[in-house]
Amino acid sequence: MPCQICGAQLLITQPRVMRTLCPRCYGCIIVDRDLAIGISIERLTNLYNLFLRYVRQFKKTRLIAFIVWEREKYSRSYFENFEPFRLSMFVSFSYLIKCLMIEDFDGNMEANEQNTPAIVELFSDYLGLLTEHIYLKEEFAELVATEPFEVSSLTMKDKQRKFLLIYNENYVPLLRTFANNEIYPEDEGKKKADDYREEWEKIRAGFEKKRKQVNYNPRSMITNSYPVVNALYCGLLKNVVFANTFDFSNYEGIVREPIQITELAKGYRAVRDRITITPVASFKDAIRQVFKSKKVEAESILLFAANNTGTFPLFPLLEGNVFISHTTTFIIFLLLHPILLKNVYDDETKRRSKQLEIKKTKEAFERAGFRYLSNVTDRKNSRLEIDGLAGKNGALLVVEVKGWGLTPFYEHKSKHEYLKRDLEGIVDGLKYTKKEGKKIPSLLDKIQYISDNMEKHGFDPAKFKEVKGIIVIEDYPPMEEYRGVKIIGLQDIPKI
Ligand SMILES: [Zn+2]
Repeated sequence: MPCQICGAQLLITQPRVMRTLCPRCYGCIIVDRDLAIGISIERLTNLYNLFLRYVRQFKKTRLIAFIVWEREKYSRSYFENFEPFRLSMFVSFSYLIKCLMIEDFDGNMEANEQNTPAIVELFSDYLGLLTEHIYLKEEFAELVATEPFEVSSLTMKDKQRKFLLIYNENYVPLLRTFANNEIYPEDEGKKKADDYREEWEKIRAGFEKKRKQVNYNPRSMITNSYPVVNALYCGLLKNVVFANTFDFSNYEGIVREPIQITELAKGYRAVRDRITITPVASFKDAIRQVFKSKKVEAESILLFAANNTGTFPLFPLLEGNVFISHTTTFIIFLLLHPILLKNVYDDETKRRSKQLEIKKTKEAFERAGFRYLSNVTDRKNSRLEIDGLAGKNGALLVVEVKGWGLTPFYEHKSKHEYLKRDLEGIVDGLKYTKKEGKKIPSLLDKIQYISDNMEKHGFDPAKFKEVKGIIVIEDYPPMEEYRGVKIIGLQDIPKI
């Protein structure tokens, strides 16, 4: 909510405890968006160049090899100890491997297990800033100057030090929706819910077995492990930078089932405390066995090499050897399900939203002391369907449930604008499948219908003097009200 004194949009100074500050009352200098984006790009370019200048001192192939090993160690420790999954860290490894393979350099410094983590950490910081830049561009954050400034006399050092990027109120629904889906900011400690951990245990148990033993079916993988698969998918594709790193569109039509890539890795023994490598000829043989008639195409998408940098660096080829990262491959295997079986995944998402409509909303209202009636229809007008009626203390709520959850590109404004459009459409009576809205009974029509006919549905007009509309959404809504209709998240029903 905006500042109660002056109405300005607040800044979120400490997202975790929701500490806010009014920039106008407090006298902050918010940099004009265009100038802010310009300064931010300059800062990023400068940092990236500094980073490159540093890594160019290293011997290229050895550095890449150690980053591949760091990535695998990271995957293993996540998988074995349920360490908090730092998204930007996981993205950093692959993004960095790709960037370095494209660059032409060969220094004298030798990468090793001691100095490589610091390099990745540095790059991960850079990626964090790149994500913040997206927030700035998408209007989820502001650039704030720590002191008055003159644009023309700003040095690079000033630009790095005298400006802070601070989230604004638009960021709140994002933060809460991510948290709802077990995706946490990088600095958050172990916060995994127990049921989520159980999900992982199940998946891990399946991972240890051979294909025939688990009776693998990609569809049931999606339906049975949906929360994990969904969080990985939406988390790793939450913005363009992440999504470009995890772009597997070139796998379509070549990888028939995601399990083919784990089969490829399982052909080689995983060893403790180091990464498995194999001569390229042997790896090409393995590809032929798994992908048969598609072997040529499969080679081009799986074998990441100096002359083939357009694909995800899953199996990098360095100095004649291919690096097999077993656990990283497994995480990618999970991620590939919603990508390669998009229809199955979308259906499951819809099915789960439907489930939400029926069950969770009813339960939440009942727990909050409401009398609740699901699925109300007008016998004379079959198009008029109401998700539910909730009555308490003389007020009757006409409830509409909007199935909506986390999606890829959630850090982009357009996603949130679609949701706003859909929510307004419910009230106005417009349903969107494409750009143009289709006319449907509006929530306002439904409120009118219930005002006139509540007795038919078992609510006494003498008791319920007030009829209002409300839209419930599972995660956090980007707006609180539209034309007198409240829009709330499921968890806020007790506060009504
Ligand atoms: Zn104010």
